[in-house]
Amino acid sequence: MEALLRAVKWDAQGLVPAVVQDASSKEVLMMAYMNEESLKLTVESGETWYWSRSRSELWHKGATSGHIQKVRSLRYDCDGDTLLVLVDQTGPACHTGQYSCFHNEVKAGALAGGEAAAVTVAGQADRFAMLSKLESVIAQRDAERPEGAYTTYLFEKGVDKILKKVGEETAEVIIAAKNKDNDELRCEASDLIFHLMVLLRERKLPLDDVLGELDKRHNTKK
Ligand code: AMP
Ligand code: ZN
Ligand code: ZN
Ligand code: ZN
Repeated sequence: MEALLRAVKWDAQGLVPAVVQDASSKEVLMMAYMNEESLKLTVESGETWYWSRSRSELWHKGATSGHIQKVRSLRYDCDGDTLLVLVDQTGPACHTGQYSCFHNEVKAGALAGGEAAAVTVAGQADRFAMLSKLESVIAQRDAERPEGAYTTYLFEKGVDKILKKVGEETAEVIIAAKNKDNDELRCEASDLIFHLMVLLRERKLPLDDVLGELDKRHNTKK
């Protein structure tokens, strides 16, 4: 703890910014300030504590909302002036009820080079980025639980319902694969991947860990 407190470069107010990331989806959730006491409390309790500049008080994230953050990993950057906290977020991180505080997006057209970036995203090379977007949407549904959304329904029903769907969709993939044309298989494979990703979120297993496992196997075969 002493080494950590010495490694951190506190600003003139004795604060350090902490970037908070979802340990599972890797989405950036929020940014808040810590002082020495809140950093100590965070390390000791395993839940995040901040310093509220507007209220001039220690702030245990989730104390009133119940939306606490369990710390999975704590890092500081090269020059020690910024913390990175990876958390298991309960509910939304933002006090507006949204999954992430960074829900205000500057339209691509307003950005220099924005158009070119949009073209790449739509391009074939970035097709797999879609999975990461889907993972993010699923994490958002889990946090915000918007009424009427099918993903909300799955999370509300719980793990047994999700497992049942994974089983059903697996069977449907098998049946669909017996057809000559791939229309049905394309749909059923999509259903299976979606429900599998909901299961990963429910179990807090990052998709990145699964891809890493595949990569590891691939690399050991060479
Ligand atoms: P909570 O810590 O979630 O119980 O929320 C208590 C209060 O802290 C809220 O009413 C907000 O004023 C503030 N707050 C909570 N979450 C955030 C956030 N992500 N960014 C800024 N302020 C927040
Ligand atoms: Zn820095
Ligand atoms: Zn917010
Ligand atoms: Zn299906």
